[in-house]
Amino acid sequence: MPALDLSALDPEQAAAVRAPRGPVCVLAGAGTGKTRTITHRIAHLVANGHVKADQVLAVTFTARAAGEMRERLRAMGLGGEAGQVQARTFHSAAMRQLRYFWPQVVGDVPWRLLESKFPIVGQAAHRAGLGSSTDLIRDLLSEIEWAKAMLIAPEDYPAGANKYKRDAPADPIRVAQVYAGYESAKTSADGLLLDFSDLLLHTAAALEDFPSVADEFRGRYRSFVVDEYQDVTPLQQRVLDAWLGERDDLTVVGDANQTIYSFTGATPNYLLDFSRRFPDATVVRLERDYRSTPQVVSLANRVIGAARGRIAGTRLALIGQRPDGPEPEFAEHADPTAEAMAVAGRIKKLIAKGVPASEIAVLYRVNAQSEPFEQALTERGIAFQVRGGELFFQRPEVRQAMTALRQVDNRDDLPDDARGGAELITLVRAALAPVGLTAEEPAGAQAKERWSSLLALVQLTEEVVRHDPEMDLTGLLRELATRAEAKHPPTVDGVTLASLHAAKGLEWDAVFLVGVNEGLLPIQHALGDNSGSGESGIEEERRLFYVGVTRAREHLTISWALARSEGGRANRRRSRFLVGLVPDDSPASRIASSAKGPKVDERKRPLCRVCLKPLIGTYATMLGRCRRCPAELDATLLEALTQWRSEKAETLRVREFVIFTDTTLNAIAEQLPTDDTALALIAGIGPKKIESYGADVLAIVASRLRVTSGKTAGQK
Ligand code: ATP
Ligand code: MG
Repeated sequence: MPALDLSALDPEQAAAVRAPRGPVCVLAGAGTGKTRTITHRIAHLVANGHVKADQVLAVTFTARAAGEMRERLRAMGLGGEAGQVQARTFHSAAMRQLRYFWPQVVGDVPWRLLESKFPIVGQAAHRAGLGSSTDLIRDLLSEIEWAKAMLIAPEDYPAGANKYKRDAPADPIRVAQVYAGYESAKTSADGLLLDFSDLLLHTAAALEDFPSVADEFRGRYRSFVVDEYQDVTPLQQRVLDAWLGERDDLTVVGDANQTIYSFTGATPNYLLDFSRRFPDATVVRLERDYRSTPQVVSLANRVIGAARGRIAGTRLALIGQRPDGPEPEFAEHADPTAEAMAVAGRIKKLIAKGVPASEIAVLYRVNAQSEPFEQALTERGIAFQVRGGELFFQRPEVRQAMTALRQVDNRDDLPDDARGGAELITLVRAALAPVGLTAEEPAGAQAKERWSSLLALVQLTEEVVRHDPEMDLTGLLRELATRAEAKHPPTVDGVTLASLHAAKGLEWDAVFLVGVNEGLLPIQHALGDNSGSGESGIEEERRLFYVGVTRAREHLTISWALARSEGGRANRRRSRFLVGLVPDDSPASRIASSAKGPKVDERKRPLCRVCLKPLIGTYATMLGRCRRCPAELDATLLEALTQWRSEKAETLRVREFVIFTDTTLNAIAEQLPTDDTALALIAGIGPKKIESYGADVLAIVASRLRVTSGKTAGQK
């Protein structure tokens, strides 16, 4: 193996790397090189003959993080192949071990991994006299997972739920019945079904109860490393303890101030209590931040500096190591649409300045916030991907809502005046009620998520009606369908849209934290809530904000909107977490008091090429003219373009809309572009599309123009 270069480490990192075999704890903030430190420590232990590479087991919590660790180890010549360091998630490590030890422990009884818990929980819920809604079942399922992660047995669930002040999806006695029913249903005459938690439980039990298994295992693995240790659950800790036995060759790294998964049972207590448990431990604190500019670091320090409680007491002020960069920006907007348009505009500029789209992220608190950003990026022709989630219009609850709206639209017993104008909003709300749109936010995480998506649809409707007071349900459905189909297929090279939870551990050159409003960050249900670790729910929300801020390497923009929907009442406030952070000279400090607002944003809208008024709505923006403005569409050309698209789709084996949507083809047939510049002016056609299809399209248009012998002048 190559000699290890310790010069790539700072003195504290090197101290952790060089510490003798035995317990080591690295307690440090975001971007200080924790992951780098543990990979180097593994390499150091191996290089100095303290352990063999294949005696090291490195674990973390997500497959992505395990992959990243393997990648960094491979770069140091310690790849993931046989005979090498094992870098895995807790679950995958346990699964391998259980497969190997099962015959010694259980004998002939077969087991298999439970693919879907849903039907079993559903049956158990039915037997316990609970409803069968998908949301309820999913919430029951999460609750059972939480109890198992906390090592709480079914009969102890009611007491546990009370102790940890859980927002239980049903009466705790009933939840306990469902939990018990679920557990017993997994055992049948043909063997055992094990869920992920069972894998961990059985692995721990095999090591705890069978000395021969423990001896064999402990002879095989001698050194353990855990990344992101603040995320460990009591169940995972039990497995780790079983792996270790009486030994203490354990290195852990983590940042208690990035604990954002308390609701799943994760707790930073093991990290914080490490040196109490291992009094001889080498404890290292890292303060130098290698990820972000001093400007971003300073803001991060102020965000977490306001935190209170035991976890906050362990924080260290970070010291930025990178060269200076721009000051973080703060921006207040009239509504989420205006916010999204401004963000998309800034992104366009960053890309023009050379920042790759894949190095840019838009982060929000809940997935339902993504729609206006998907829309604004689409309108600007910027490719994007939604990490850890689906595009808004592809989410199951949104699809159900669209079906419900279509059914209402198809009814012929509705009077016309109930379908349009102000009545349209009432109609939409009523149509969405059976899909889950209650007046008040419901209990349960899944139900809440569904509810916020449905509410986002109502807000979209309000926006559409405000722009076009005569809009009816059929028109609304067409507007929504255009929005849905206009979205570029997600691409990994594009801008990332993600929730703050999904952004953990990742980094980008430019980060936009959006919707930093009271009620969103902190989220409404965290106010006065208890996260389960005995502290206020607000503190976990503050840590989420901190995680968001620390994802940015260089550019950071924090924004919020005053109204829920475009042109709506400005009854929202910016987040309490921003108190003292927004500089007095920031434009964001002023907008609230002056009566600007939508007008500013109106000016940024593209104009109708017929009447020159600002374009409103996606359909219009894509066409480049108002819906009602007259247009001359060359039907023969449209036919030729449609024919070309279908042949192209067949050759490339993709769906037709991936090439161009109907609306884009319409726009081409109306606007008759004669060069790339004219093509680029059509919404839905970005540089990639021009590169792939521009020549084809221009050739088709040109041959049509020749036929009509120049009678139709190219309109630019
Ligand atoms: P997080 O808390 O977000 O998981 P982390 O503490 O694990 O962050 P790393 O991902 O290990 O941080 O490091 C952050 C960045 O800083 C990486 O790009 C890493 O290569 C770089 N880095 C770490 N230590 C040093 C160093 N001593 N010199 C130069 N760059 C470093
Ligand atoms: Mg890390």
